[in-house]
Amino acid sequence: MNAQHDYQIRYSQRAKRIRLVVSAEKVEVVAPPGVPEQQLHDFAAKKKDWIRATLKKVRQKKQAVKPLAPERYEDGCLIPFKGEFYPLHIQTGDQRRQADLTFNPEQGFTLNIQAKDQHSDTIHLIVRQWMFQQAAEETGRYIQQYAPKYQLWPQQVRIKQQKSRWGSCSVKNNLNINGLLIMTPPQVMAYVVAHELCHIRHKNHSPAFWQLVAEHMPDYQEYRHWLKQNGQRVMCGF
Ligand SMILES: [Zn+2]
Repeated sequence: MNAQHDYQIRYSQRAKRIRLVVSAEKVEVVAPPGVPEQQLHDFAAKKKDWIRATLKKVRQKKQAVKPLAPERYEDGCLIPFKGEFYPLHIQTGDQRRQADLTFNPEQGFTLNIQAKDQHSDTIHLIVRQWMFQQAAEETGRYIQQYAPKYQLWPQQVRIKQQKSRWGSCSVKNNLNINGLLIMTPPQVMAYVVAHELCHIRHKNHSPAFWQLVAEHMPDYQEYRHWLKQNGQRVMCGF
């Protein structure tokens, strides 16, 4: 970055005219070779307000996909679980062999771990495993809740971590549910399970399908919307 200017100048053979490229990290003035540098500074000066506004916009957008999960797993970090954030307390006093993670809604998470194992990566793994176990249990509960109404029972259920889908239902009625949904408010995860169960009857997103979803969950639109708004931050994973 230039000390005098908060943008960089780049000459490109492919550039047909002077243009601005704004990303969260940098602002570039791109120009065809041979354009005098002063002309580029004048151009940037003229577009100052536009640059500032655009930078703000792209930075906000980048902020929006900040993962819900903590960057580092350490004492005091906040862990997303069922739509809330809970602090992680690490206790190293107890030298039991196996690390042990417990949860209660008042205190949050408590991890008993040997001092020598207290690395962010190790803790991350323990938390992730625990979360996927919880996701499997919750999914089972939601199936018990929604399947009986129209006998929409899946053949098999798998909890996976997927980067682009919340769930799926195969032609053989095997369900995949994204375990990352355990981060979301319970109703959101319930909606995804109900949605996939409804695919047992309708292998499409026809009006009849959505009608069936609504019969299970009249306010499902709210949870679909939540996923559209926050989904990227959940997809970032634990
Ligand atoms: Zn679907």
